[in-house]
Amino acid sequence: MKCDILIIGGGVVGTAIARELSRYNLEIVLLEKEDDVAMGSSKANSGIVHAGYNSPADTLKARLNVKANPQFDKLCADLDVPFKRIGSLVIAFNEDELKQLKWEKENGEKLGIKGLKILSRDELLEKEPNLNPKAKYGLYAPSAGIVSSYELTIALADNAVINGGKVMLETEVRDIIEEKGRIQGVKTNTGDFYASYVINAAGLFADEIANYSNDTKIEYSLRKGEYHLYDKNWGNFVTHILFPTPSKVSKGILITPTVHGNLMIGPNAEETKDKKDLSTSKVALNEVFESAKKLVPDLKRLDIINSFSGIRAKEKSNDFIIAASKGLEGLINVAGIQSPGLSAAPAIAEMLLDILHEYNHELKRDIDLSFKKNFKETLTPKKRLYRTDYYNWQEIIAENPDFAEIVCRCEKVSKGEIIHAINRPVPATSIDAVKRRTRTGTGRCQGGFCQPRVLEILAKELNISPLKVSKKGKGSCLLFARTKEMLLSKMAGEKL
Ligand SMILES: Cc1cc2nc3c(=O)[nH]c(=O)nc-3n(C[C@H](O)[C@H](O)[C@H](O)COP(=O)(O)OP(=O)(O)OC[C@H]3O[C@@H](n4cnc5c(N)ncnc54)[C@H](O)[C@@H]3O)c2cc1C
Repeated sequence: MKCDILIIGGGVVGTAIARELSRYNLEIVLLEKEDDVAMGSSKANSGIVHAGYNSPADTLKARLNVKANPQFDKLCADLDVPFKRIGSLVIAFNEDELKQLKWEKENGEKLGIKGLKILSRDELLEKEPNLNPKAKYGLYAPSAGIVSSYELTIALADNAVINGGKVMLETEVRDIIEEKGRIQGVKTNTGDFYASYVINAAGLFADEIANYSNDTKIEYSLRKGEYHLYDKNWGNFVTHILFPTPSKVSKGILITPTVHGNLMIGPNAEETKDKKDLSTSKVALNEVFESAKKLVPDLKRLDIINSFSGIRAKEKSNDFIIAASKGLEGLINVAGIQSPGLSAAPAIAEMLLDILHEYNHELKRDIDLSFKKNFKETLTPKKRLYRTDYYNWQEIIAENPDFAEIVCRCEKVSKGEIIHAINRPVPATSIDAVKRRTRTGTGRCQGGFCQPRVLEILAKELNISPLKVSKKGKGSCLLFARTKEMLLSKMAGEKL
């Protein structure tokens, strides 16, 4: 296949770039190795749209974070993604920690962040009655918000597709195709792809792609972060994002409501060498719980409904690397996108476009960087039972009775919503992909009731055997054989 631009990686960065580029008369193909987009760090993070005061003002990550932050209201409204600008508080328990708060405030003001304020203990407790009363000061940032990171990623990809982009799932880049110091395309498990430019947005694996060239080597160190997610009973326990005063390695273990009304605590920061190890451990989760309790002492272990982890890739420069490769013409690297990569993603996409304009001028490749006349900025809002009132829903049911059949009782998701998710521009083809689009299985019972029904609906809609329906792509099918066939085989003495 030949196109203008190949993007490697369907995380929030790759999909934001795909959407931004789909405004232009370009043929864009995004390659993602997993069975869905949002399968890397963009699936498992804190979901915070940071105000942007944390990183030093002279870093790229700080500048892009601050530039992107105000864009989230319109972007999320356009793409029908849940986003709430609830504000954040960094809590200090002593005068030493206050010094750090003052640095963050000054740093943020240098970057042009509005509304930063250091609050007293009384002001803090008025905002957050469950906060530890030993807290002395807090840095308030009204522009911080919360978003569903994976829903944003999926929506960006959907929007790129309706504007002509292609998303190729289960397509893993395994090598590059190079000629005379210039990238021609990539080799994948499904064949070769050729393009005028290749954008490397492969997240944790972007170092491996970048280092195919003899560029300055990109070097990652990895840190895993684990989380606990609470039931919705705890959704109002705090109403802002609460951070402790940060350490040298991380922003610390935070406590935050989620956009869906749960409560989340985490992440810790553990060194790891394994990019694929997303296991959780008792020791780490205990650290998460105990640290969160320092901020809000009444926190209980009761009602924790899930635990998960994500991996951050820190480049040795401790900053984002967004630049044309020096060693390989036509390759643009977007690497080292650690936090605040989610918050900065819209601005990363804009920066990429600027690089492409400049680079294309220099290289004089034959791509059309003129605007598409019919670019569609928005996605049609999804019909969601949990979001609509009874009477509207009755109208929806009258049109399509599938919306009357509740499949997930905890999150109130109907069969109609699941079928819609399976037929979105980037279709859901696994149980977890349906979950990320509709919230089936994210409630109290964690899929205990709805998973078999989701599996059945997927099999029917995709016209495949239920034995072929997977949890999250290749190698994760849930059913092994029909029970009766298993029993008959066993009775006949066959080895199972
Ligand atoms: C624990 C944790 C908490 C965080 N919290 C926040 C936060 O609150 N706010 C914030 O702003 N940022 C946060 N971040 C950072 C943010 O999550 C990341 O910066 C962002 O998700 C990076 O997006 P990405 O698209 O670069 O990478 P990813 O989301 O990892 O996407 C890369 C994609 O490339 C695919 N891929 C890799 N190799 C190949 C290949 N060879 N061929 C094809 N596809 C490939 C992967 O499967 C993946 O889907 C956090 C990160 C972590 C880990």
